[in-house]
Amino acid sequence: MEERYEPIKELGSGNFGVARLVKDRKTKELLAVKYIERGKTIDEHVQREIINHRSLRHPNIVRFKEVWLTPTHLAIVMEYAAGGELFAKICSAGRFSEDEARFFFQQLISGVSYCHSMEICHRDLKLENTLLDGSPSPRLKICDFGYSKSGLLHSQPKSTVGTPAYIAPEVLSRKEYDGKIADVWSCGVTLYVMLVGGYPFEDPDDPRNFRKTIGRIMSVQYSIPDYVRVSADCKHLLSRIFVANPAKVLVYSFASWKCC
Ligand code: ADP
Repeated sequence: MEERYEPIKELGSGNFGVARLVKDRKTKELLAVKYIERGKTIDEHVQREIINHRSLRHPNIVRFKEVWLTPTHLAIVMEYAAGGELFAKICSAGRFSEDEARFFFQQLISGVSYCHSMEICHRDLKLENTLLDGSPSPRLKICDFGYSKSGLLHSQPKSTVGTPAYIAPEVLSRKEYDGKIADVWSCGVTLYVMLVGGYPFEDPDDPRNFRKTIGRIMSVQYSIPDYVRVSADCKHLLSRIFVANPAKVLVYSFASWKCC
């Protein structure tokens, strides 16, 4: 692999291993490689990540390139998103204006809508899994398909996976749920965090109390602080996404929130 890709630097480490920046010696293209240690770590999630991610081609999804097997690791080669995580951008900005949030949200929805059209639900959509490319008007790139499921290849989602603050009520119910609608909920949380700079269902005075957060998710208890300026259209959109009974979610009814 080193013959083909020149190692540049480490990008960070995650649950499964490390990600490194490399340069294709032939094309000079910068790429990201996720290294997963061979053995027990290569489980069904890694298999799904590869099978699902490699089938997706969309400007708002990190492009899957290829997989290598080294003597010690499985290496997933993919497009490099030079702008880092959208999460880091929010952390430094505090929160975004509605125009800025809309700019990123529309791209997120475009990528998610494409995944769903390919019968793949992501199941771990969050700001940490949305990267940005390095262009001045950043393009959002969804990554990390470790929890993804294909409606064509896998069983209907039932297990509670994802990240607590982003989990939809039906995912907590231990019954089968629609992974696509659960993704829409997570997109709603992402939108809220961009606008408010905090999580919708966490008690700001007791953020680590998961039991309380889960209670608030189940009863769809959230509010937008008075000091945050959000249009009525945007509030309406959030209210149509955060619905306890998913059958009532108006999926992809985002048109009412005007384009900037
Ligand atoms: P995690 O399990 O936290 O998702 P990953 O192994 O996917 O971790 O990624 C580790 C780090 O590398 C994270 O900080 C992530 O933002 C970064 N990273 C992952 N993929 C890319 C990529 N394609 N381009 C740029 N940075 C990436």
